[in-house]
Amino acid sequence: MNLLSFFKNISWLEWIVFSLIANIFLYLFSIGLYLFIDKTCSKNKIQATDHPFLKSDLYVSFLTVFLNSVVMLIGVYLWESGWIRLSESKTILALLIEVIVITLMMDLLMYIFHYLVHHPLIYKILHRKHHEHTSTNFLSLFVLHPFEALGFGLMMIFVFMWYDFSIFSISFYVFINLIWGTIGHLNREFFPKWMEQLFLGTTKFHNQHHLSEQRNFGFYTSIWDRVFGTHQP
Ligand SMILES: [Zn+2]
Ligand SMILES: [Zn+2]
Repeated sequence: MNLLSFFKNISWLEWIVFSLIANIFLYLFSIGLYLFIDKTCSKNKIQATDHPFLKSDLYVSFLTVFLNSVVMLIGVYLWESGWIRLSESKTILALLIEVIVITLMMDLLMYIFHYLVHHPLIYKILHRKHHEHTSTNFLSLFVLHPFEALGFGLMMIFVFMWYDFSIFSISFYVFINLIWGTIGHLNREFFPKWMEQLFLGTTKFHNQHHLSEQRNFGFYTSIWDRVFGTHQP
């Protein structure tokens, strides 16, 4: 039996449990990866201190994990009702191209979304929470206003509705996004220098955005910041 027909037979209760377990796993993986790199990386800290650990941030991060599960269930609903079409058997090259296409599409949409949430009217409601972290810590990636977490998830779903991507490309993209977000919120530069020269969004690139909020709105790449003049090296 192939993977998609297996998923078609899963009940809604099983989907709810599965989405919660999957998102809790991704959350713990992110924290584990963050702490592991932070403890083993010999490079100096980008900012003198990390953002302090706050219990209130922990609760916000739990809410983000819950909302990520809700987004996953919305995706499942749209798939079951035919709004999202998934495929399975594709060549490695096709999968690779799909992952690159999804990442580049999301990169542009995230730039626009991120630029818009910095508008003073929207900022106070949607994005101030994330910027309470002027320096970062292992929870920064998950410290988001609920609407912001949902907004990102719905944007992702919008991209998945556009074409019948493979379930493997989508899963791989979601995993890359988690790793990129985790590394992007470290307080040490993890990426080698040449990645910055290739216009990729490094740790320092996003850390700079936490320091100087009108710069570096991009996430995976610095392409759109360079195009629209908001780039700060
Ligand atoms: Zn951030
Ligand atoms: Zn921002």
